[in-house]
Amino acid sequence: MPSPWPATWIPAAGDTPATIGGLPVTELVRQYGTPLFAVDTHELTGRMDAWIQAAKAAFAPAQGLANADIYYASKAFTCTALLKIAREHGLRVDVASGGELAVALAAGIPGKEIALHGNNKSAAELRAALRAGIGRVVVDSLPEITLLEELADLQEIRKVPVFLRVTTGVHAGANEFVATAHEDQKFGLAAASGAALEAARAVAAAPHLELAGLHMHIGSQILSTAGHEASTRTLLQLRASIAADLGILVPEVDLGGGFGITYVDEAPPTPAEFTEKLAATVRDECAALGTPAPRVSLEPGRSIIGPAMVTLYEVGTIKSVALAAGERSYVSFDGGMTDNVLRPMLYGSRYLAAVANRVPDGDPQPSRLVGKHCESGDIMIRDLDLPSGLARGDLLAIPATGAYGRSMASNYNMLTRPPVVAVADGESQVWLRRERLTDLLALDPGAPTPAATE
Ligand SMILES: *Cc1c(COP(=O)(O)O)cnc(C)c1O
Repeated sequence: MPSPWPATWIPAAGDTPATIGGLPVTELVRQYGTPLFAVDTHELTGRMDAWIQAAKAAFAPAQGLANADIYYASKAFTCTALLKIAREHGLRVDVASGGELAVALAAGIPGKEIALHGNNKSAAELRAALRAGIGRVVVDSLPEITLLEELADLQEIRKVPVFLRVTTGVHAGANEFVATAHEDQKFGLAAASGAALEAARAVAAAPHLELAGLHMHIGSQILSTAGHEASTRTLLQLRASIAADLGILVPEVDLGGGFGITYVDEAPPTPAEFTEKLAATVRDECAALGTPAPRVSLEPGRSIIGPAMVTLYEVGTIKSVALAAGERSYVSFDGGMTDNVLRPMLYGSRYLAAVANRVPDGDPQPSRLVGKHCESGDIMIRDLDLPSGLARGDLLAIPATGAYGRSMASNYNMLTRPPVVAVADGESQVWLRRERLTDLLALDPGAPTPAATE
């Protein structure tokens, strides 16, 4: 059965606490408090290497292909320590805002190794990207092409590499994908309507832009390869149409991210399975179209960082609620919709939890794991069994919380956002420190200065 726990995780046994990266969770919590995002560095780098090696093998020129690059989708989680490791392991970086771009540049990522995404990039964001010598701007609309050309002209940039975000009509998520002829969503330029071809013409005609690639991103937490395969065919057909129409054979295609992970018991394809299927699709479709194969990029976010983090919480109030049939134990922890509960609330996402400081006695009780926020929907896990001996002060661990947890965290109820601490070989290192109340009060000009409150 697939497991959501990271490589170095050893569960609690008796009175012995669980360990991650060779450190007992009780030691981590003593040092850094709860809630805490703990990164298993070995799990993380293992995932980076798996994607790089799979792409290298599947898209090798010996396979009749033109190589592939892996871009880490930094919106899943970003900080300079992580991006530096990504670069050391051969990854490039996707950003979707000026803020994510600033973190990538602060990490020392060269502009040419960064791709900028977004359906509503501001002029300031585009200017910052051009100043950084961005490797590719993935444009999402015709007005953006006009704006980018104006800015490139003003900054006297000779040729900005432009990718077109194409809507292929394929949407995927979890186990299924759907193909629709028409798109009714905010992202991209439709292949079917002719919008993508029109955009290709506009880029080709813009003196300071260069049509460098076509891009697709079909969804998230995708658990089969079928959606990516179908969408890739459409993208390659568009590439052949552009070649016939404009005489430009676009050199690269970016097949996006969205590769699923195990949260509970899901069995996603491995990086090798995804890349082999996609390489075969590119080879076959290009042969059928009579076009040489393009260089390929893939953009995993969740698949790299998701399984590498475990969140540690402390148990607070435990309340028994009488139901028509029996009782339910409401177990509260010291976080919630300000950190990991947003995903269950937005997408109905499922998670597992384990008691991490010890194995409490007692029979399993039907339980519900809830956060501390003023919202009854603040539910991390709707139905789980927890031992009756569970008590205030015990620690709970939730695996697979690396993606879209800390990165979507907020300050609702004026909670401070949790730290992110990397652990490996018995050592810990702070990647993001815990936010302090003084950080929040510093935004409020009416509050006394931090020095006065401390
Ligand atoms: C969000 C996003 C990704 C990464 O998605 P995951 O599901 O985290 O792999 C990749 N590319 C684009 C354009 C995205 O918007």
